[in-house]
Amino acid sequence: AKRGGGGAYAVFQQYMECDAADQVTLQSDLRLAVERGQLRLHYQPKVEARNGGFIGVEALLRWEHPERGMVPPNLFIPVAERFGLIAGIGDWVIEEACRQMRAWADDGHVVHVAVNVSALQLRQANFVAKTKSALQRHAILPSQLLCEITESAAMEDVQATQSTLEELGKVGLFLSIDDFGTGYSSLGFLRQLPARQLKIDRSFVQDVDSNNDARSLVDAVVRLAHALGLCVVAEGVETVGQQRALVDLGCDELQGYFFSRPMSADRLISWIDDRGA
Ligand code: C2E
Ligand code: CA
Ligand code: CA
Ligand code: CA
Repeated sequence: AKRGGGGAYAVFQQYMECDAADQVTLQSDLRLAVERGQLRLHYQPKVEARNGGFIGVEALLRWEHPERGMVPPNLFIPVAERFGLIAGIGDWVIEEACRQMRAWADDGHVVHVAVNVSALQLRQANFVAKTKSALQRHAILPSQLLCEITESAAMEDVQATQSTLEELGKVGLFLSIDDFGTGYSSLGFLRQLPARQLKIDRSFVQDVDSNNDARSLVDAVVRLAHALGLCVVAEGVETVGQQRALVDLGCDELQGYFFSRPMSADRLISWIDDRGA
């Protein structure tokens, strides 16, 4: 089948209307993509709120389907979780991120990388051991890697993964709590996690300079997070107005299209060099 002119958006539409049969097709395509090494990581910079200095990147999965074009992770990650593919994909992401950090380091660039970790991945008994082994194989310090886990997944799993979470802390691997503000947790639960960082969800960032509730929420999260010794990242920053509001509210780090879209490993290095950091 030839692909029409609609590009990624058409694919998205197609899968949005996904019934059970489509999901099975997507699942088997994804299985093949993993076997054939067709997944890639792109990297989006995080910068210091006060002076725009480069801090590190978030690694984001990209799947270019040979016929259908780009398939968004919001679509294929849930399928990977449902069909038991997420552990393999998650292992690959950590391996690839470590390999890339080593390649950058050999090239004179020490880059801190945050990877997204699914709750199902964290629930694997050997998650910490596997991650530690990938770090060691590529001679990367645990402090150079951060695991992003969504607020809802972190909450749900505090009990189920207590031993994994304790192990993480012992190895010196830390968590970043993603999409913060969308769940229903009190910040108190954060004390149970080896968390270093909170990422304020894009839905609040979007309205931070136009809506008082969004602004108050960001303000409260920043104060409480700082009281607990956590660093606050705002994600999805698209405008200078949002940037200014977030700096005023005391966010530590910013990430979003305003600074850069996610990009390939090579382009990241040009991006860093061009800024003459
Ligand atoms: P996320 O972890 O919340 O990642 C942030 C998403 O927001 C990314 O979408 C990123 O490209 C996008 N983004 C960044 N800046 C902006 C902005 O200024 N405006 C807008 N509108 N969007 C922005 P992406 O790459 O499509 O990923 C979507 C989600 O898929 C991620 O959300 C994450 O939950 C999941 N995901 C991506 N890679 C992985 C992975 O390796 N493993 C797992 N388990 N999940 C992943
Ligand atoms: Ca994330
Ligand atoms: Ca997020
Ligand atoms: Ca998100």
